[in-house]
Amino acid sequence: MTQIFADLSSMQDSMLTICGEDYNHIKNVLRMHPGEKLTVRGTDGSGEEYVFEIVSFSDNQVNCRLLSVKESEVELPVRVMLFQGLPKADKMDFIVQKTVEMGVTEIVPVEMHRSIVKLAGDKRRKRVERWQSIAEAAAKQSRRAIIPQVHEIMTYKEALRFAASAADPVLVPYEVMAEQSSSGTRTLLEALKPGQTAAVFVGPEGGFEGSEVDAAIGSGAKTISLGRRILRTETAAMAFLAFLIYRFELD
Ligand code: SAH
Repeated sequence: MTQIFADLSSMQDSMLTICGEDYNHIKNVLRMHPGEKLTVRGTDGSGEEYVFEIVSFSDNQVNCRLLSVKESEVELPVRVMLFQGLPKADKMDFIVQKTVEMGVTEIVPVEMHRSIVKLAGDKRRKRVERWQSIAEAAAKQSRRAIIPQVHEIMTYKEALRFAASAADPVLVPYEVMAEQSSSGTRTLLEALKPGQTAAVFVGPEGGFEGSEVDAAIGSGAKTISLGRRILRTETAAMAFLAFLIYRFELD
C-alpha cells in the first residue's frame, strides 16, 4: 500500500486533508482514485500506521477518511540514539543513510578530540539540514514508521549529558575491547528490553581519546566490543544495529 508521512494534527472527525507535494504525488504521480487506500504515518515520530481511504479530490487537496490505526511492526523495539564522532568529508552522509535503513531512531553528530572536520556557523546548520533530508529519504525508502531526527552537532560534553538524560544504557564501542573477551557485550545486549532507549557512541576515524572513554565511563556508560577486528568508523554503528536486528527481529 502507498505510504506517506503527513502532519496528522489537522485530522478532524476521522477526516484528513492532504495538500501540497503529497497531493500532487497522490493525484498526478500515483494516479490514485477515490476508494483507494493509503497508509499515512504521522511526522511526530509516534510510529503508528493510519490507514485512510481516499474519499474525494477537491481544489488542490485529497480528502481521506480514517479506516484504522495500527502499531508499527517495522520499528526495532529498542530505540537507538547514535552519537557519531564527526568523520571526514561526506562519510556522515553514508552513516546517516545506512543507520536509518537499519533502524536507528536518532542521530547526534558529535565533535570529538580526533574529529578532523570542524564546521562553523552557517555550514554547520546546512550540513545538519542535509543529513536530515538524507534521513528522510532513507526512512521512506526502507518503509520506516518514523523519520529519525538528526540533531544539531554537539560537543562531547554536551553529548554525554544528553545521552545520560535520554538513554539507558549508554554504550561505547571501544576497539581496545576487541582484544578482550566480548562476553560482557553479549550480556549487555541480552539485557536490553523492549521499550528501552540505548545510546551508542562511535569514535571518529582516529578513535576515542582515552580521556573521552574515561569521561563516558564516569557518567555511567559501558564499553562494548563489536568483534575482533577494527572496524572503520562508518561500519561501527551498522554492526551494532545488526546485533539488535539479530537480537529482536529474527525467528
Ligand atoms: N583508533 C582506531 C580506529 C578507530 S575505529 C585505529 O585507528 O586503530 C572508529 C570507531 O569505531 C572506534 O572509536 C569505535 O567506537 C568503533 N570500533 C571499531 N572497531 C571496533 C571494535 N572491534 N570494537 C568496538 N568498537 C569498535
